[in-house]
Amino acid sequence: MKVIEHLQNARGPLFSYEIVPPPRGRTVKDITEIVKAVEKFNPPWIDVTAHSAGASYNERPDGTIERKISKKRPGTIGICGIIQNRFKIDTVTHILCNGFTREETEDALIELNYLGIENLLALRGDGLNYNKKISKDRSVNVYASDLVEQIDGLNKGHFLDNLHNSEALDFCIGVAAYPEKHFEAPNLKVDIANLKIKQDKGATYAVTQMFFDNDHYFNFVKACRAEGVTIPIIPGIKILKNTKQLQTIPKNFYINFPDALVDETLSNPNHVVDIGIEWATKQVQGLLEGGVPGVHFYIMNDTDSVVKVVDKFYKQV
Ligand code: FAD
Repeated sequence: MKVIEHLQNARGPLFSYEIVPPPRGRTVKDITEIVKAVEKFNPPWIDVTAHSAGASYNERPDGTIERKISKKRPGTIGICGIIQNRFKIDTVTHILCNGFTREETEDALIELNYLGIENLLALRGDGLNYNKKISKDRSVNVYASDLVEQIDGLNKGHFLDNLHNSEALDFCIGVAAYPEKHFEAPNLKVDIANLKIKQDKGATYAVTQMFFDNDHYFNFVKACRAEGVTIPIIPGIKILKNTKQLQTIPKNFYINFPDALVDETLSNPNHVVDIGIEWATKQVQGLLEGGVPGVHFYIMNDTDSVVKVVDKFYKQV
């Protein structure tokens, strides 16, 4: 079933989850264990992140430098196939502009369609750390809105090669939204205008970047509505797990921590896991009271904390 149908049919807010493929060299078992841990909560859908290839540099014995281009976390489509078909849980596959040509994207979408996957989160991805050569007969999507347009085109049967007798694909398209603004946008107004372009090109819902202060989310939704963004905006929640994240999360995700959470964490560094769970519980409570359509949990590798928080609400949702 499509995410938008889950949202339309829901009798209350939905709790969804996001997982990351294992690093190259690990088996898929780590991921299936995470799915088993949240399966008891009847997740309406689970997102699986996508990763483009990156460059790494190694020194050879003779002192010269070797450059390798590889994906650290391959396997997004395979994992989605497992979740969709073995666990019978609807899956949202993340699809990126950066690192992929439109031709590669079309092939991936055909594969996802064959696997029975109906949901995509269309993303630009972050910049590559190498210059991927694109041959002249290939094309690229620059912004997520371009990718939305390509998927929407396929939903109308428009393949890149202008095929005769082609059958339309049928994907529900989600996109990313940033309550504290995307780091490259000059201001929130421009960023919201770009979100509206994604909606106008065919996106039917949005999931937010993580935030630790619900006011950011509620103010953002209000600003979006004022600018004509009407699609459901699902809040994304990450649970703080260690003090190191006080630096890594703002650095990687361009978001701020509230003073109270920072003060409490620094005063009780040995109890960060409990503090994170308590903070997220209050955030989820506040979001539910504010009438959100759902809460999307960024699990990454923090299954235990997510399960503890969701356990507190499971009977309510
Ligand atoms: P866009 O919507 O294209 O926006 C990027 C920037 O360009 C913004 O500043 C926007 O305002 C601006 N912009 C948009 N359109 C235009 C235009 N036409 N002209 C000028 N400026 C424009 N990354 C991954 O690599 N893999 C993942 O699986 C992944 N999952 C994510 C899931 C969620 C819920 C979120 C919130 C983020 C995720 N990301 C993921 C991170 C995402 O790829 C980055 O934040 C990326 O920098 C922006 O992606 P976007 O889709 O929001 O881009």
